[in-house]
Amino acid sequence: MTALEVENVGFRYGARTALSAVSFRLEEGQFCALLGPNGAGKSTLFSILARLNDIQAGRVTIADCDLAAQPLKALAQVGIVFQQPTLDLDMTVQRNMMYFAALHGLHGARARRKIEQALSLLGMAERSTEKVRTLNGGHRRRMEIARALIHEPKLLLLDEPTVGLDAETRRAITDHVHNLAASGLSVLWATHLVDEVDDGDRVIVLHEGHVRADATAADLAGNRSLVDAYLELTGAAETSL
Ligand code: ADP
Repeated sequence: MTALEVENVGFRYGARTALSAVSFRLEEGQFCALLGPNGAGKSTLFSILARLNDIQAGRVTIADCDLAAQPLKALAQVGIVFQQPTLDLDMTVQRNMMYFAALHGLHGARARRKIEQALSLLGMAERSTEKVRTLNGGHRRRMEIARALIHEPKLLLLDEPTVGLDAETRRAITDHVHNLAASGLSVLWATHLVDEVDDGDRVIVLHEGHVRADATAADLAGNRSLVDAYLELTGAAETSL
């Protein structure tokens, strides 16, 4: 099964082109970093994949379903973590998760079982009775990732999920998500931080709406550092250095 296929996707905001003929394919269980500086088009692509933006040009297939022709079936296979947190701070972890489960048609004992499984995957099971407000930023993010897994999607999309977190917490979250990919989930992780990419990861470099490279991090770097390769491709000043 192909988890995600993006074929010649283009997008414009009026006269401004945000994406130009973007194409790539993600297989089952692959972790892929979508690396690009601010303005590269990452959020625009995620909005298309989440159906917040229409597909203006090209075609998107998710878990072998055409996103335009079968949007509900395709989106049922997707878990999404957006840049901006969307948790109710005054509810407990469990209640936030139950609310989201209900949106996916999951209720009662079945929902509770799926929630517990998802929280366990992120090392958050013991936090379920705590109010979100009492959790630190890293735990809130882990909870959002767990929430995106309740309905057991095939594809997990994360849009700069570690923004605002310290280095240690970022590492813990990237490690958790790599483990999810190792167990069969396909992951597209948007970031502008080169240090979130591991040597063995696949990396798609997006710049000014174009795919500039699609290779493993090690191949992309060659005999230089990945940061140097990235700077050469994008001329970006923004790295995690
Ligand atoms: P990234 O997520 O990689 O930072 P975006 O997808 O947010 O990139 O932006 C890609 C391009 O589209 C940028 O040039 C940005 O200014 C432009 N853009 C994004 N959102 C809008 C919008 N709502 N209206 C007009 N232009 C936008």
